[in-house]
Amino acid sequence: MTIKVKNPIVEMDGDEMTRIIWKMIKDKLILPHLTIDLKYFDLGIKHRDDTDDKVTVEAAEAIKQYGVGVKCATITPNAARLKEYSLKQQWKSPNGTIRSILDGTVFRKPIIIKNIPPVVRSWKKPILIGRHAYGDIYKSVEIEVAGPGKAELVFSPSGGGAKQVLSIHDFKGPGVIMGIHNTEKSIRSFAKSCINYAVTEKVDLWFGAKDTISKQYHGFFRDVFADEAEKAKGEMGKAGIQYRYLLIDDAVAQIMKSEGGMLWACMNYDGDVMSDMVASGFGSLGLMTSVLVSPDGTYEFEAAHGTVMRHYYEHLKGKPTSTNSVASIFAWTGAIARRGELDGTKDVVDFAHRLESVVIRTIEDGVMTKDLALIADPKPKKHALTEEFIDEVAKRMNG
Ligand code: NAP
Ligand code: MG
Repeated sequence: MTIKVKNPIVEMDGDEMTRIIWKMIKDKLILPHLTIDLKYFDLGIKHRDDTDDKVTVEAAEAIKQYGVGVKCATITPNAARLKEYSLKQQWKSPNGTIRSILDGTVFRKPIIIKNIPPVVRSWKKPILIGRHAYGDIYKSVEIEVAGPGKAELVFSPSGGGAKQVLSIHDFKGPGVIMGIHNTEKSIRSFAKSCINYAVTEKVDLWFGAKDTISKQYHGFFRDVFADEAEKAKGEMGKAGIQYRYLLIDDAVAQIMKSEGGMLWACMNYDGDVMSDMVASGFGSLGLMTSVLVSPDGTYEFEAAHGTVMRHYYEHLKGKPTSTNSVASIFAWTGAIARRGELDGTKDVVDFAHRLESVVIRTIEDGVMTKDLALIADPKPKKHALTEEFIDEVAKRMNG
């Protein structure tokens, strides 16, 4: 007897080793248990090339329509990939394309397992990180100044009116200048996505900035967050969670000492740096999931890692691989649970949670891939191959 899923999930296939894992997960762990309408889009590099990348845009539109998507890791072509796959051009990152169409924020969430201890001893619960992915130094203009001269910050209102001019620095010799910006619309969307996700995950929301130094720029972020949190007070109260503003350096110190269990909203650069710090603090890329949340509550789930190219080439040579499928399985369970919540179908949500617990118990019983076996405590006698791990989970799901 399978469980019927009321509404569709948008499925995006991908590349290399993760594409191989993807099919195994779907065939062995999902389809034997669920009757589900999957709207399938092949984002594998060849099909993106064949469709001039239109398939990525169509997939993003479908996620918008149905509200939930699950995506396999994909190649973002560089010069080497252009040649390797004889591509028409270096197509843009599919994640970037989807993110801009959904106007979403990417959150990362580690999977905690008892016998895979985090490097940071105090961390017991997941630390979720949300990175604002627009503006600041990522959309900056810069000038390397050759010699003496005046640098000014100028704003000219479109409708005419007085210019605002501020002196940045009076250069006596060589130096460097940068101009950065952000928009209220983007910051508000970011704050809304963060609140949305904190409510779904039932964790406190933290936001840190340096408003003591940057009274206007960082202060603007602080005020927008405070405003959105105030508007969402009822919703947050119902979820039993709170909003907390901290100075960014205080936030960093508190996070290191905490036991986790919060969503940490970061400005663009902080998120870039801190998401890598938190990811390595929790141990393995194979245990990190990622979810794109749009301000209107559309969710897209995936593993945070890439296509695991090195393992794929071993696989093509006919060699056995031990690639961790946990983050990809949790991308599926995340999407299925979200679908069930939106549809109000408890059996679907329960299925997702059961699959997650079975995966965790399998690892706690000592069956795990090589990346985890290396850091597990206690260490298992041997590690499982890619398919062996999935088969063990499948067996337990059927048992
Ligand atoms: P990667 O796929 O994340 O893998 C880098 C290394 O990390 C692997 O070689 C492996 O280390 C380890 N690793 C990552 N995931 C693992 C897993 N599930 N199980 C076991 N080990 C794992 O990054 P990459 O090889 O640099 O990038 C490959 C392609 O992925 C690129 O074309 C890039 O564009 C794409 N990419 C896509 C996404 C996405 O779609 N979201 C994200 C990042 C990268 P060992 O070799 O030491 O075993
Ligand atoms: Mg980074």
